[in-house]
Amino acid sequence: MRERLNRFMAGRYGVDELSRFMLYLSLFLMLSEFILNFFSGNVVISLISRIVNLVALVIIILNLVRIFSRNHTRQYKINQWFLRTKGRIIGFFKGNRSAADKTKKVFKCPKCSQRVRVPRGRGRIEITCPRCRTRFIKKT
Ligand SMILES: [Zn+2]
Repeated sequence: MRERLNRFMAGRYGVDELSRFMLYLSLFLMLSEFILNFFSGNVVISLISRIVNLVALVIIILNLVRIFSRNHTRQYKINQWFLRTKGRIIGFFKGNRSAADKTKKVFKCPKCSQRVRVPRGRGRIEITCPRCRTRFIKKT
């Protein structure tokens, strides 16, 4: 049985970050649908519940298609796209678009509020605002 499974899985793409995310997402949707079913008397809620159920099903099928795919390059590219998008979304919610860049530190000019990016770990340095030429001292 195990050998059979191994033979079946040979050359298949397998699990990556995106498939794990899709698994959690489909589980979350199924749980939501389960909760929504408690209010099944309401027409709108039962419609939403059906849509949630359908979306969860589509995600599960797409996930299985990816895991059992033999086109590794394509699945790898999709996963890379997912990781980039995830990084961007996390960066956006952190209010710092360059959240990934840990070698730089961002300060605001005390006069004109211009954001100034300087290298980290240089100690106390004098920064000149590129917009209004105001000088201010900050610890990096
Ligand atoms: Zn300034």
